[in-house]
Amino acid sequence: MSDIPIDCQEHGPSTKALLCQHLHRDGRQKACGLIEPLVDEEDEELPHAWCSDCQAVLGAENGWTEAAEQSASMTAACLRCLEVVREAQLAFDSEQVFIARDQQDDASIERADAFIQFANKLAEHSSIAESSQSLLIAASRFNAYDALTTADDISADRQALIDEYCEAYRQSFIQNLDDYINHADVYFAEPDQSE
Ligand SMILES: [Zn+2]
Ligand SMILES: [Zn+2]
Repeated sequence: MSDIPIDCQEHGPSTKALLCQHLHRDGRQKACGLIEPLVDEEDEELPHAWCSDCQAVLGAENGWTEAAEQSASMTAACLRCLEVVREAQLAFDSEQVFIARDQQDDASIERADAFIQFANKLAEHSSIAESSQSLLIAASRFNAYDALTTADDISADRQALIDEYCEAYRQSFIQNLDDYINHADVYFAEPDQSE
């Protein structure tokens, strides 16, 4: 994470951070939600956070497009400012404060497509609801297996693992649901009857 020194009007010498324009303006006074990225140590990015409204745009846009960046209009602050805003948002509504996982890469999308193709095939002999239910059971069993093989101490880490995996599922579900809602005209287009 980038560590650029700045002299904050409020906090004095600190590290530069960025807040979306909404958190910058209202983050201490009212519930906005707060999302921070999952950052690599080697990452060059400044510490930064954005609000629930910006997250909704981000989901609809499927990433940091021009529209998403315009909504956020990241504004300079200091690391202490970010911490103060995070504390305030946790106090308002802790459910709306979370770490956003990295954008999915192409390879993970391709693997997901392979599972979905198989789920569609199974749905031909049952129903979409039944196939979906089986996919969820399979995903949670496989995710639990993944957690088991990567956790240092499965019993001690149990609650943290539940939180991490459920939050990842929640984010992915919201992203896909919003994608269907925002692109209903594309996904559920009436077949062309003109032929
Ligand atoms: Zn915002
Ligand atoms: Zn500050």
